[in-house]
Amino acid sequence: MPLLVMKFGGTSVADLDRIKNAAMKVKREVERGYDVIVIVSAMSGKTNELVGWVEATSPLFDAREYDAVVASGENVTAGLMALTLQEMDVPARSWQGWQVPINTTSQHSSARFVDIPRKNIDTKFAEGMKVAVVAGFQGVSPEGRITTLGRGGSDTTAVAFAAAFGAERCDIYTDVDGVYTTDPRITSKARKLDKIAFEEMLELASLGAKVLQTRSVELAMRYKVRLRVLSSFEDTDENSGTLVCDEDEIMESKVVNGVAYSREEAKITLVTVEDKPGISAAIFAPLAEAGVNVDMIVQNISEKDYDDHPGSVTDMTFSCPVNQVARARKVMEEARAAGTIAYDDLVVDTEVCKVSVVGIGMRSHAGVAARMFKSLADENINIKVISTSEIKISVLIDRKYMELAVQALHDAFELEQA
Ligand code: ASP
Ligand code: MG
Repeated sequence: MPLLVMKFGGTSVADLDRIKNAAMKVKREVERGYDVIVIVSAMSGKTNELVGWVEATSPLFDAREYDAVVASGENVTAGLMALTLQEMDVPARSWQGWQVPINTTSQHSSARFVDIPRKNIDTKFAEGMKVAVVAGFQGVSPEGRITTLGRGGSDTTAVAFAAAFGAERCDIYTDVDGVYTTDPRITSKARKLDKIAFEEMLELASLGAKVLQTRSVELAMRYKVRLRVLSSFEDTDENSGTLVCDEDEIMESKVVNGVAYSREEAKITLVTVEDKPGISAAIFAPLAEAGVNVDMIVQNISEKDYDDHPGSVTDMTFSCPVNQVARARKVMEEARAAGTIAYDDLVVDTEVCKVSVVGIGMRSHAGVAARMFKSLADENINIKVISTSEIKISVLIDRKYMELAVQALHDAFELEQA
């Protein structure tokens, strides 16, 4: 039997009517001849409520009990979905993570998959079950305790099942109808993509496009799971939504396929750092230890001689999320006090954002950076930091220009046209 994985996010199972609507979509695939594994999230808002209860009960909570509480949201929707399908005469059974079992590591609240043995579910399929409804976001540790996978983890559950069961596709039903060239709230010219390559989706997801959990895309790329993002509120068919797939499946690609942004960034500069071996390590090791997510890093050795510095010096600039600035500053000041690093001044700019253009076509096309910079220059937007990878160019700019920059770049790379 061909097999499909269908995942329904929180808004798609927010109440009994929506669960029925989702179940109808499942039933249709069964009628088309598929065995289906359905992965469900908790009803929208439920996980936040559960997290709130845990924090209110015990501010320094035991992560094992946190997982015991927050995993329960998915148990409810899994059971209700199975019941709804049964009411529609579809043979369905629900599975909690430990029953499958979904074996994970014991890092509570951010566990990783170890393996998903197929035997129990396959046996039920062989006995005539058509749909296995599995609670997303959860698993079981080697110690036999309930674990969770981190917020948004049901996407990753879905991809892991698609990989483990060799599914034809993994359909992610959500409240948007696909992946867009950019955020439609920022420009009405944003266009839904029919297809997007794994690498591009990975960049967009990690740059803040919130449709899919980043880990789910990593996993899909590793196991070549074809992922489709589509709306559970519309009538959909095989061609709906956006297919996230291997680039070989994409015949024609534009040079740039998406413009992403991340609003709450900060830029920190250590002024006149000594230019000698070991300095970068001395700066970034303690930042990493303190859990500061450093993103862009720029150092540029000044060719100028400073009278008050005997050797050559450099400014070291890095970016991190705004809410980590205080921690980063503290770590740097402590390192300076301990004498492991020296700098004249620490300058913080918390009013910046990051805007990026992404496209696999960049690998084989020159001039993308120039086009990007020209388009920002035409809007009089000053670029503060630039970083590039094989398929992405990112700039740090003043936050107040974020919308303008996204719109300008969307126009410059003609993303409106297919
Ligand atoms: N319910 C969990 C969350 O909100 C997992 C998920 O929905 O993906 O993070
Ligand atoms: Mg989600």
